Amino acid sequence: DRQVDATSTAEERELEAALRPKNLDEFVGQPRVRQQLSLVLQASQLRQAPAEHVLLSGPPGLGKTTLAMIIAQEMNAPLRISSGPAIQHAGDLAAILSSLTEGEVLFLDEIHRISRTAEEMLYMAMEDFRVDIIVGKGAGATAIPLELPPFTLVGATTRAGLLQGPLRDRFGFTGHLEFYDVDELVLVLRRSAMMLDLRLSPDAFVEIASRSRGTPRIANRLLRRVRDWALVHQIHTIDVAAAQAALDMYEVDERGLDRLDRAVLEALCLKFGGGPVGLSTLAIAVGEEVETVETVAEPYLVREGLLGRTPRGRVATAAAWEHLGLRAPDDAQQ
Ligand code: ATP
Repeated sequence: DRQVDATSTAEERELEAALRPKNLDEFVGQPRVRQQLSLVLQASQLRQAPAEHVLLSGPPGLGKTTLAMIIAQEMNAPLRISSGPAIQHAGDLAAILSSLTEGEVLFLDEIHRISRTAEEMLYMAMEDFRVDIIVGKGAGATAIPLELPPFTLVGATTRAGLLQGPLRDRFGFTGHLEFYDVDELVLVLRRSAMMLDLRLSPDAFVEIASRSRGTPRIANRLLRRVRDWALVHQIHTIDVAAAQAALDMYEVDERGLDRLDRAVLEALCLKFGGGPVGLSTLAIAVGEEVETVETVAEPYLVREGLLGRTPRGRVATAAAWEHLGLRAPDDAQQ
């Protein structure tokens, strides 16, 4: 039930797909990644060869899947989508790889979760466009080499550091997606509002953008909630008061923190006196996996200046205490 979770209903999925930018020009923000990627794609078009393998890293909802779709679109190539958790055996990967067509873009979401044996197969496939299919078992097992058509792998991960070095090194280009600032999210929202035929005042856009946790997916989701509210209340132009009233019903605070972000801060301040506390202890305290706290909640809290990483563990900053409405101890980090 997190705001950044994959959308659940068919209607929401459809809307999310409709709101996805279709090419690099429509893609808002991330100027560096956009520029670098554009160069990679243009060069491969001039070489008349599939683009180099691309690794995209960053917290959920910042546009990794969207960029993979754009890469396929710009290369005029078909796109195949799979994910690390879906590839538990080398055979699963072999089945996908052996059915790729020339130039196809293969998007592997959560690539850091593929099994070890599949990962080894991927090394060879990425480098030499070849895999060895193992037939039989034990001493009688033989490896049958299989040539693959050149393809482009687009891998996505919440943090590039979660990938094994040899896998990371095989990507020709790595793009790290950053959280979006309010102005960029306003652009995302304006485009979505136009597509949804909604009218909002300029400060209503800013209000929604400020509560979107730096994340376009959340911005679009909050816009839909505001749309529902306006529909029920028969409001034609949504002003800032309407946007606030609609958003107050959801568990996103004025700084964009969601339930997990707040749970982490509250545990840090109330259970551990502001830290320092180890990441795994903190994760247990909020009942989440270490990876989720580290790759989903923490990056935003650090960016907002609410949480600090020190060699001895995570600490709450003075701003975190203030945000929770608590009195900070005298030695809290500024
Ligand atoms: P996850 O890793 O959770 O799958 P993701 O990083 O792949 O997330 P996307 O699915 O690509 O995120 O993006 C989520 C939604 O946010 C998309 O529907 C898209 O409409 C919107 N979006 C993402 N990035 C942008 C952008 N730069 N400009 C406009 N809309 C964007």
